[in-house]
Amino acid sequence: MPEVTEPPVTAPSAAPRVLSGPQRALQKLGLVRDIDLALHLPLRYEDETRIVRIADAREGQPVQVEGVVSDCRVEQRSRRQLVVTLGDGSGELVLRFLNFYASQQKALAVGKRLRVRGELRGGFLGREMVHPAVKAVDADTPLPASLTPVYPTSAQLPQAYLRKVVAAALARAPLGELLPEGVVPHGLPLLRQALLFLHQPLPDVSPATLEDRSHPAWQRLKFDELLAQQLSQAMARRERAALVAPALRERADGGVHAQLLATLPFALTSAQRRVGAEIAHDLATPQPMHRLLQGDVGSGKTVVAALAATLAIDAGWQCALMAPTEILAEQHFHKLIGWLEPLGVQVAWLTGSRKGKARTQMLERVASGAAGLVVGTHAVIQDDVLFARLGLAIVDEQHRFGVAQRLALRRKLAGQAGLAAAQESGDSPANTTAHVRPDHADRARAPLEPHLLMMSATPIPRTLAMSYFADLAVSTIDELPPGRTPVLTKLFADSKRDAVVERVQGEVAKGRQVYWVCPLIEESETLDLKNATETHTRLGQSLPGVAVGLLHGRMPAAEKAAVMALFTAGGIAVLVSTTVIEVGVDVPNASLMVVEHAERFGLSQLHQLRGRVGRGAVASVCVLLYAAPLSDAGKARLKAMVETNDGFEIARRDLDIRGPGEFMGARQSGAALLRFADLTDDAALLAEARRLAPPLLEREPRAAAAQVERWLGTKAEYLKA
Ligand code: ADP
Ligand code: MG
Repeated sequence: MPEVTEPPVTAPSAAPRVLSGPQRALQKLGLVRDIDLALHLPLRYEDETRIVRIADAREGQPVQVEGVVSDCRVEQRSRRQLVVTLGDGSGELVLRFLNFYASQQKALAVGKRLRVRGELRGGFLGREMVHPAVKAVDADTPLPASLTPVYPTSAQLPQAYLRKVVAAALARAPLGELLPEGVVPHGLPLLRQALLFLHQPLPDVSPATLEDRSHPAWQRLKFDELLAQQLSQAMARRERAALVAPALRERADGGVHAQLLATLPFALTSAQRRVGAEIAHDLATPQPMHRLLQGDVGSGKTVVAALAATLAIDAGWQCALMAPTEILAEQHFHKLIGWLEPLGVQVAWLTGSRKGKARTQMLERVASGAAGLVVGTHAVIQDDVLFARLGLAIVDEQHRFGVAQRLALRRKLAGQAGLAAAQESGDSPANTTAHVRPDHADRARAPLEPHLLMMSATPIPRTLAMSYFADLAVSTIDELPPGRTPVLTKLFADSKRDAVVERVQGEVAKGRQVYWVCPLIEESETLDLKNATETHTRLGQSLPGVAVGLLHGRMPAAEKAAVMALFTAGGIAVLVSTTVIEVGVDVPNASLMVVEHAERFGLSQLHQLRGRVGRGAVASVCVLLYAAPLSDAGKARLKAMVETNDGFEIARRDLDIRGPGEFMGARQSGAALLRFADLTDDAALLAEARRLAPPLLEREPRAAAAQVERWLGTKAEYLKA
């Protein structure tokens, strides 16, 4: 075999230098520090510790044999190939190479002694191995004592090179115990031992315990990782506890809050009242709220948000409400204007498409404090947006904002409220020093943080809530407003489209409205658009006399708004749309939703889409059109949709199908959050880590910080978002 030319293995140095190909590849994989390499664990192992006699080797299994070449020739069959015969006295075996170099031919010449690993099969011309791994040896070359690790790697990074770099790093890496005695559960090895073992296990280990990660060495790693995660959450909690927010107390003399409650066209559900009280309680304390309001689609989160906003406004502060899409932001804007302007609150509106003079004027109303409530897309957190006194930020459909956007929001909010406080020292109702508890007195002059309320229809499954979001207070609306009939979900193969169109016609004849959602075409807005336009034309033709509208992301904002307004008013019967209507859109008279190529959508996305119907009292149907063949994941998603309407169950299944990293939208940011532990399999370790973290942070803050640094490094930031 041609030896892989290996660059020298060198310790990483601080001096800038030109990186070799494999070094660049290492960097790309995030394998920079010794500790990174030490924590880069094998995918699997190869057993090169044993040699089997050729006569005893069984077919269909990977095996290692050693022998001497008795024949080596190039044969011309359907392809040119190198055919080598190897014998060890007990029997003979053919090695077959379909692609080979001249140098290989030389290395495999007659008389050479070879150690060969591969899968043995019963070939046409006798027993053979195709493309085995080959190593030239002497009669006395020792066998390795431990299993050979096979690491996850990339094309630019040869396995043999990676093995050497990892082994060298493992010897150098600072792997001393950071945790005080008694913290690590009894029976788990030292970290150094655990890692040495996992990189080079002895051949007598049970392969199953390595594979299912139940081996004590694996348990040690998982424990440490979970502990680091819990510690980082406990630290975030502490940091937050040190921050000061304006205490937004309810006014006794009946402010906008009381008036809004009195003028709402419906009575709040008891769940809405309960979460409202939880939020009001947080707002009234001088610590920034960090609360997630979760409630299934249609459970009525918007009004809870509006009530929270009025508490801030009554206390003399501003509130910002952010939505992930312009359509949703616009809808919120209209709804909130309807509720709040009659009560004398100014509502401003900021999106990316709003430019020029209109924007400047809006910014002035925000900066002067005239606008009590500012509604918009993430344009609300742009740099030029300055609030006079931001007391509360609300993020709707927060899971739709990427991890990076959530981080940006947090940074933007940091100290925002303080801008105002720093400028003023008057005794406005917002002057918080009066409310500050004595133990906060020394921090009273620190910049103020606004309260943060996040809302989502995608509930966080319990396991995630306990781990990633341990630092988040959660309020749950577990009840729908009265009079709703659950949406019936039906699957139709694409070929049954005509029957579906008939159904649309029937619904329209009854005076109801219909959404027709066009397939998602990954990463191509142009194709999305083409699709929607074509569907619009076709549906228009098959439904003569029916007003069919079109809505897509590329339309100018004003046009989108006009179409949405017309649909809301009933002027459009069938709305053909891309996924721009996915979140939040609320038209109670819509009773049928058709989703084309439903198999292309994610599960929570389908659930969100389905949530657009069933908002009124009429029985609603969601039709999922799909094209065969379905992938396993596609099947699982559609099955879940048919089987349940429950957002919690949907979220649980979504987590099963996708795994936690993707579930949280962290993939896009490249931050793998848990590498070793699995929240379901390792629930017991997680519980232990949860129990241990707070007292450890309390008593051994330096050990705690070192543990977080070792295991999370820069990722700790993401865990706070
Ligand atoms: P989501 O939680 O999905 O954001 P919305 O806030 O859009 O739900 O509310 C869905 C619909 O239910 C809206 O039309 C809203 O006005 C209405 N609604 C909210 N709360 C109640 C209630 N307590 N009784 C009746 N209707 C309500
Ligand atoms: Mg909503």
